[in-house]
Amino acid sequence: MTDQASTAATRAETARLPSYLDAANPGPWGMFLEQLDRVEPHLGPLARWMDTMRRPKRALIVDVPIEMDDGRIVHFEGYRVQHNLSRGPGKGGVRFHPGVTLPEVMALAGWMTVKNAAVNLPYGGAKGGIRVDPKLLTPGELERMTRRYTSEIGLVIGPDRDIPAPDVNTGEQTMAWMMDTYSINQGSTQPGVVTGKPVSLGGSLGRRDATGRGCYVVAREAMRRIGLPMEGARIAIQGFGNVGNAAARVFAAAGAKVVAVLDVGGGIHCEAGIDPQALVEHLQGKREPITSFPGVEPITADEFWATDCEVLLPAALEGQITAANAGLIRAKLVVEGANGPTTPAAEDMLHSRGCLVLPDVLANAGGVTVSYFEWVQNASSFFWTEDDINARLDRVLSEAFAAIWAIGQERGINLRTAAFVTACTRVLQARALRGLYP
Ligand code: GLU
Repeated sequence: MTDQASTAATRAETARLPSYLDAANPGPWGMFLEQLDRVEPHLGPLARWMDTMRRPKRALIVDVPIEMDDGRIVHFEGYRVQHNLSRGPGKGGVRFHPGVTLPEVMALAGWMTVKNAAVNLPYGGAKGGIRVDPKLLTPGELERMTRRYTSEIGLVIGPDRDIPAPDVNTGEQTMAWMMDTYSINQGSTQPGVVTGKPVSLGGSLGRRDATGRGCYVVAREAMRRIGLPMEGARIAIQGFGNVGNAAARVFAAAGAKVVAVLDVGGGIHCEAGIDPQALVEHLQGKREPITSFPGVEPITADEFWATDCEVLLPAALEGQITAANAGLIRAKLVVEGANGPTTPAAEDMLHSRGCLVLPDVLANAGGVTVSYFEWVQNASSFFWTEDDINARLDRVLSEAFAAIWAIGQERGINLRTAAFVTACTRVLQARALRGLYP
């Protein structure tokens, strides 16, 4: 074989091998790629740069070995993906979940790039995770795993490089350990390396409820435009973790009524309304299943999706609303508190029935917006009041909503595509201006 023929043969062979970039349909990375395909025709000349969005800039896989309390050495799989850094440092949460995989973290990092650009935060997009069921670890094991992971990803994170935050099954304590480990390795206290910290360690007031509050702000803006009153609006919420429970409290305080909740422990329904604060207290410590909450009737997952309500708030994991259950949904508005809860096929079904979907990259951007406020406060060592944080959050999200809504109306595209057009334009303009190197 000639040299040329052998190179061509090698290329052809390589092209047949699966690449980590291949769409793992119907997984989250496949969903993300499909969403990008829908946006590309609306980008004009910037579409030339679109493959930037289809390739994470950097993906770090780390081995996380720890000694368990019983003396065994156990290795966990950890990731940190920096999807894009064109507009600023990486930003996005870290999740601990048995379903974590590289393509899942790639998709979640990609959604962070879009989210941060959609609300115009000066960040790229990143995400991290460990493939683990944290409920099976003792507090000591959890701390050792978190610290070892942080030390391993210390190669790529930092206050001006990439700033992790909480996500599924991680919280303020996780961030405190991460901040401490990074600081020890650096030899100086570095509060700005993570956000979502406890307030006593440089965390921001209002961060804990920020994602749920943001869901409310974006829903309120949409409801105003489609003529749906907030007073008495019936809400069904899937997932009663950090996002779902904060959203429930903020919606209820604004006059809406939580009529159904579906959690890992089951589903409940009450037409008269469920008191969110009482449910939070009931679930505290997870000693009681959700179905033993007084005054409600237990419901199945299908009954939950079919709840007669105005607003449906999926606030659990990705891929929950699919072509299999979208037909059951009777809500007029779906507010994506989770990342990637609706598959593209399900979204089309909902829209064709006149149900408006508020996309994750806008609807759940409240968390990262207050993370940004926390990072700014850390950089200046000057802290704002909770009222100030909430007012600024409301302003950032209402303005982002108005701009994205206007693009949707002008171009006759749905809100997800409009949010992606806004975000991809910002990211790819930055990419084109910075240019390729060398
Ligand atoms: N994990 C959250 C999200 O998916 C927050 C990320 C952050 O604050 O950086 O948006």
